[in-house]
Amino acid sequence: MSVPLLEFRAVDLHYGPIQALRQVSLHVDEGETVSLIGANGAGKSSLLMSIFGQPRPSAGQILYRGEDITRKSAHHVASSGVAQSPEGRRVFPDMSVEENLLMGTIPIGMAHADEDLKRMFELFPRLRERRNQRAMTLSGGEQQMLAIARALMSRPKLLLLDEPSLGLAPIVVRQIFQILRELASGGMTLFLVEQNANHALRLSDRGYVMVNGQIRLSGSGEELLGDPEVRSAYLGGH
Ligand code: ATP
Repeated sequence: MSVPLLEFRAVDLHYGPIQALRQVSLHVDEGETVSLIGANGAGKSSLLMSIFGQPRPSAGQILYRGEDITRKSAHHVASSGVAQSPEGRRVFPDMSVEENLLMGTIPIGMAHADEDLKRMFELFPRLRERRNQRAMTLSGGEQQMLAIARALMSRPKLLLLDEPSLGLAPIVVRQIFQILRELASGGMTLFLVEQNANHALRLSDRGYVMVNGQIRLSGSGEELLGDPEVRSAYLGGH
């Protein structure tokens, strides 16, 4: 039996008196695309951030390739091959597109930087056209592409995405999901957190539904898309 790439075992997480995660267990196998869906405040971002220890769980374990990373530094986790495209497409606003991408090499160094910049510009042609433009002047969709591309510059084995569709027009959401599909078919392991259940579950091999910090349901993307509770709560009842 192979070890999951990422595993949560009975994880609790608190912010002072507020409990954001309750006994969360889930796993992501190598090569899979897995999504975690849930409403605002369900605990999705907290779960992703806990992988980098910010904040740390109050109980349970997080394992990456079988190694207990619950108490490891964010630097250790990033250099082991985990990269995150953060919520709100946080880019460095005053830096150019290219400078932002180079920041993504920090966990692994600059040895492959030229080759990887070329690869990113092939995957995201809009970024090539804008390589010298300051990130703050990009559209929302372009900033999201930049956040994903920057994460890819560290050559991750596991790419975490926090709400990649948030605040974007439907056509741009489709472009972003098309790129994620290409990454997944190239063998990348993706774990994405989304309120946009429809797009996320269509892309995913498996999914988890989180309610009030707990995993309420899990199944294949297809099973969850057909689940009556998921349909009424997250797919607008269609
Ligand atoms: P959203 O989609 O709105 O980002 P989410 O599912 O990602 O929601 P979290 O942001 O993880 O949810 O929040 C889970 C719970 O933890 C919420 O009740 C939230 O108010 C609380 N919380 C999150 N961050 C903090 C913090 N820094 N201090 C105190 N409480 C927090």
